[in-house]
Amino acid sequence: MDPPKESKRALEKARKKAEKAVKKAEFALRPKEPSAATTSTSTSSSKAPANVFEEGWLARVYKEKPSDTPVRTRFPPEPNGFLHIGHAKAIAVNFGFAKAHNGVCFLRYDDTNPAKEDEIFFTSIREIIQWLGFKPYKITYSSDHFDRLYELAEELIRRDKAYVCHCSREEVNLQRGGPDNRGPRYACKHRERPIEESLTEFRAMKDGNYAPGEAYLRMKQSLTDPNEGNPQMWDLPAYRVVEKNHHHRTGLKWKIYPTYDFTHCLCDSFEEISHSMCTTEFQQSRVSYDWLLEALDFKVPKSEEKGPMQREYGRLNVTGTILSKRRIQMLVEGVTVEKKNSDGTVEKKVIPPSVRGWDDPRLYTLVALRRRGIPAQALLNFVEGLGVTDALTEIQTTRLESSIRSYLERSVPRLALILDPIKVIIEDATEADEQELTVPYDPKRIIPGERQVKFTREVYIDSSDFREEDSPEYFRLAPNKTVGLLNVPFAVRAVSFSKDSSGHVSEIRAVKSEDKPKTYIHWVDVSSAVKVIARQYHSLFKTDSPNTLDWKEGGWADDLNPNSEIIFKNAVIEKGLNDLVKLHSVNPSRASDDLVRFQALRTGYFCIDPEKEDDNIVLNQIVSLREDKSK
Ligand code: ATP
Ligand code: MG
Repeated sequence: MDPPKESKRALEKARKKAEKAVKKAEFALRPKEPSAATTSTSTSSSKAPANVFEEGWLARVYKEKPSDTPVRTRFPPEPNGFLHIGHAKAIAVNFGFAKAHNGVCFLRYDDTNPAKEDEIFFTSIREIIQWLGFKPYKITYSSDHFDRLYELAEELIRRDKAYVCHCSREEVNLQRGGPDNRGPRYACKHRERPIEESLTEFRAMKDGNYAPGEAYLRMKQSLTDPNEGNPQMWDLPAYRVVEKNHHHRTGLKWKIYPTYDFTHCLCDSFEEISHSMCTTEFQQSRVSYDWLLEALDFKVPKSEEKGPMQREYGRLNVTGTILSKRRIQMLVEGVTVEKKNSDGTVEKKVIPPSVRGWDDPRLYTLVALRRRGIPAQALLNFVEGLGVTDALTEIQTTRLESSIRSYLERSVPRLALILDPIKVIIEDATEADEQELTVPYDPKRIIPGERQVKFTREVYIDSSDFREEDSPEYFRLAPNKTVGLLNVPFAVRAVSFSKDSSGHVSEIRAVKSEDKPKTYIHWVDVSSAVKVIARQYHSLFKTDSPNTLDWKEGGWADDLNPNSEIIFKNAVIEKGLNDLVKLHSVNPSRASDDLVRFQALRTGYFCIDPEKEDDNIVLNQIVSLREDKSK
């Protein structure tokens, strides 16, 4: 049905007005503090902004090697948990650095602790790297090299640079200067045992003749050298006996497993890694890393040209949430804690699960951020925008959110979503007023496309846009007050309302109004509305620094925010959502980051959750339109 000319003109005028109103509102919504991350946001290209690799810390690391060195890096996660936002930095640094210098990056699973490893972690890590848009040059496992590592351990013994030690943990601590490491350090009697004896004992370890803790292979570093204040040189263990445990790749073959300190640098050498980048907790390990490589002739002392080079960057920490595996596990699985009372009695407290799973959108694991709808590229831009130095980067969750917001602002279409609908009946609307409007997905037309929006005399508005009692500073709908409906050529004035049995306003009667509205609100046509379930997410904890809570005796449970998830079971959205879904299924993006996302007008950014509930589409709020000022 073609609207008559007159009403077409009116429609155009109304739309311009509404666009202006939306623009004005958006201006007010823009984050005031420009963060480093927001300045580098780009949607036009999926390539990471190159500057972190060309300037500063990473550029200096690159220049430490001769310019013709082929760049080979690795991301080496332990497959014992789900990756979190901090790991996104490690992934961006290692894969990004290789990409920036036409090199390659390995995904190397550091699978040397069978007790804690699980297939699901291997799979999830691989998928998350793919989601972030990176492709490992090769997927490798430390366990690929177990035979070779074992041979090298024997070789180290033969070179008189390792010995089998039977001291207990307490004894070893004493040898290292006692509890504060300030006392004298000394060697144990095993250190000087004959090479042949250590070889025999090491083979006995391998054959299963020792239980865990009864024997270690220790590297002969520089335990007593008074100038050697670095604990990483105090005869670190190279191999340990591990309780009978099935290793996902080598089965029950091994009863001994190499330590991180023994494995890491050697695997770097095997894979000819040029730049081995890790976080600053490993700064002291640089000496032992080089020591072992030199002891086995994998590296020439004082030459950076031969062999891999370890360099350390600062971790990314996010405050306002928790990242520790152990703590997230308590939220996911629930936990029974024991609380000691002052009278010595012990109280057991059962804390039930507080989230639905490791990918619950309230968490900051990467699977959770993905499910919540954070675009992979937005996350990468954010991480890279923070820069890479050797200092710890500590940020609040709100800073991440504002960066995501400015990314989405320029990349997703807009739709009207009503979280808590009230029906408005426009009594005097005629058939001629009822029409199918064509509305652009983006009033600024940065995002192309448009959708059909149906308008009839019955529309839903959000309960927050209606007040039973009017007041002068209030501009939205109230009895006898006029408000504009976005994209509709006339305003409406409420004339009466009714309530349901529980006292909530359930229906508003309105008429067309000639008065000039002070503002415009969004609405959804009743006849074509699509019912959805919408979930909004807020901080899991009341405090901004949940890491300071009592994690030992369960005190953290009292600080859980009861409103961390708000569910709108009766939400409705304009039928355009179905068009977006269709468009998406006909023409899925080839990227692995492939969710339907949109801006819900005046509300927030949402995506469609992968799972339906009672056959209804579930929407996850990615971020609100503006920062939550109540925080
Ligand atoms: P967590 O202890 O936080 O669970 P992890 O250090 O045990 O993590 P790994 O699997 O060992 O996890 O990490 C793989 C790589 O990611 C390592 O190189 C590590 O340095 C890096 N990494 C881990 N956490 C962070 C972080 N918060 N920021 C930057 N890089 C990180
Ligand atoms: Mg670790």
